[in-house]
Amino acid sequence: MSIQETDYLIVGAGAVGLAFADALIDLDPDCHITFVDRHAKPGGHWNDAYGFVALHQPSATYGVNSMEFPTEHIDEHGPNKGLFALASGTEVLAYFEKVMNLKLLPTGRVEYHRLSEFKGMNEGGEARVAPILGGDEKTIRVRRKLVDATFYQTSVPSTHKLNFKVLPGVNLEPPGALPDLWKDADSLPKRYVILGAGKTAMDTGVWLIEAGVDPKDIVWVRPRESWLWNRRYTQPSALFIEDTLDMQMAILEAAAKASDGAEMMRILGQGGYYLRIDETVEPEMFHFATISQGEIDILRRITNVVRKGRVTVIEPGRMHFGEESVDVPLETLFIDCTASAVPFEARKNTGPQFRGDTIVLQPIFVPLVTLSAALTAFFEVHFDDDDTKNLMGAPGPLTDTPATFPYSQMVNMMNRGAWAQNPDIMAWLAASRLDLATGTIARLMAENSPKLAKLQEFRDAVQECMPGLIKLGMQAKAVHERNAG
Ligand SMILES: Cc1cc2nc3c(=O)[nH]c(=O)nc-3n(C[C@H](O)[C@H](O)[C@H](O)COP(=O)(O)OP(=O)(O)OC[C@H]3O[C@@H](n4cnc5c(N)ncnc54)[C@H](O)[C@@H]3O)c2cc1C
Repeated sequence: MSIQETDYLIVGAGAVGLAFADALIDLDPDCHITFVDRHAKPGGHWNDAYGFVALHQPSATYGVNSMEFPTEHIDEHGPNKGLFALASGTEVLAYFEKVMNLKLLPTGRVEYHRLSEFKGMNEGGEARVAPILGGDEKTIRVRRKLVDATFYQTSVPSTHKLNFKVLPGVNLEPPGALPDLWKDADSLPKRYVILGAGKTAMDTGVWLIEAGVDPKDIVWVRPRESWLWNRRYTQPSALFIEDTLDMQMAILEAAAKASDGAEMMRILGQGGYYLRIDETVEPEMFHFATISQGEIDILRRITNVVRKGRVTVIEPGRMHFGEESVDVPLETLFIDCTASAVPFEARKNTGPQFRGDTIVLQPIFVPLVTLSAALTAFFEVHFDDDDTKNLMGAPGPLTDTPATFPYSQMVNMMNRGAWAQNPDIMAWLAASRLDLATGTIARLMAENSPKLAKLQEFRDAVQECMPGLIKLGMQAKAVHERNAG
C-alpha cells in the first residue's frame, strides 16, 4: 500500500473544490494540495450534464479567481441579448480541465486522483482513497486539513434516482437525449411532457421551442411555481453597476416594508427584479435560478401546464398524480427534469466552515458558490484562528422558498458588512473577477464617476433598512430551521 502526504486533501474537483484550490495555491506558496474525485475529469456534475446545459449566471463571474472564461462578451442575439454571455456546459468542462491542466498541475504542488473514492479517515488520521476502476487503496497523510468540497450534493437528470414509478412501454428520457431525436426523424414523439418545474425544465422548454416544436405539443408538469432572478440584475461591470446596486437596494427596501418573505418577493417581483412564468400563480419555490425576460417570453408560450403536484406513476398513455390522472397520446416522450440540482432539503453537514482539521466549503455569499470557496481560501491563509475565519466566513443558508429567502439575504448583507470593515478582504474582493461589484466600484471611485451617486443611495438604504431585513431574516431563519427538522 502506497503512503503519500499532502497539506490539503480536497474531496471533490468540481467548481467549488477547484475555486478553493486555485485561490489557495496563489495565496500560500508553500502548500501542497491533493484532489480526490470520482469523476474521470475535473468539473464535477458538469461531466454529467445534458448537452444543451449552460450556466445561468454570466461566465464573467463564474469559475476560479485566476482564469477568465473565453465567453465573457455581451450576447448580441438570442433570449440573453444585451447581457453577459453564459458558457455552455461543454465550455464549462473545457474551462475546468484547463484550470487543472494548465494552472494547478504545472505548479508541481498539486496531485489529482481522478476516478477515486474518498473512503474517510482511518484510525491513524490518514485519508483512505480507493481507485474506482481497480488497484490498491491508497493512504494519504494530511498534514494540514481535509477540505470537503461536496456539500452541495449536486444532482442532475442523468445520474439521479427517479422518485416516481415508470411502467414498461413508457418513453422517458433525460433532457440529454433530445439533441439525438433527429436520428430517428421518422418516429418523432406526438407530445413532449416536461416533468419538473426547475431550471432544467425551463432550459428544456426553451430548447424544444427554439428547435421548432409547436408549444401546443408540449405539456409541462409544474408541481410548484418558482420565483426567478432577473438576470439583468446579476451583471458585472460598470455598464450594469447601477442595476446591481438598484437590486441590492430593492432587497433592503422590500425587507423593510414586507411582513414576511412571500410579501418581500412579491414586492421584488413588482419591481421586475424577480420574474415568474405565470403571474397569476403565487410561487412557492425560489432556488436562486437566474433567467432573462427573453426566456420567460418563450416559456409563456407553453400553456398546457399540469398543476396536480408531483407525478407518482407513468403508464403508457397516462400519468398519475396520486388519485388523479391525465391522459396523453401513446407516442409521448416524457422528459425527466425532476433532479433537484442542488438538493436544498439536504442540509446535513451545515455548520461552521472551519472545524479544526477540516474545512466544509459552503456558501458565504448565497448563491455565488465559487466566490464563496475562493474567499474562504483567502480566510484560511489570512487569519490565524478558526473563530475569526468562521466569523468572516459565516455560511449562508441555501434557502429554497419565498418564506425562508430573507434569511439568506440577511446573512449575505451581514457578511458583506463584516468584510467592508477589513481592508485586506476588500482589497482581495476588488481584485477578484468572481465578485460582482467591489472591483467595479473601486475603479469608479478612482475615476470619480457620477455613477457613484447610486452607491451613496445604497449606503443610505443599508442604514435605513437593515433593521427591517434583520427582523424578517430572523423570522425566516426560524422557518428554515423548522423545515430542516
Ligand atoms: C445544470 C446546472 C447549472 C448550474 N448553473 C449554475 C450557475 O450558473 N451558477 C452557479 O453559481 N451555480 C450553478 N449551478 C449550481 C452548481 O451546483 C454549482 O455551480 C457548482 O457547479 C457546484 O460545484 P461543486 O463542486 O459543489 O459540486 P459538484 O460539481 O457536484 O462536484 C463535487 C465533486 O465531488 C465528487 N465527490 C463527491 N463525493 C465524493 C467522494 N466520496 N469521493 C470522491 N469524490 C467525491 C463528485 O464526484 C463531484 O465531482 C448549477 C447546477 C446545475 C445542476
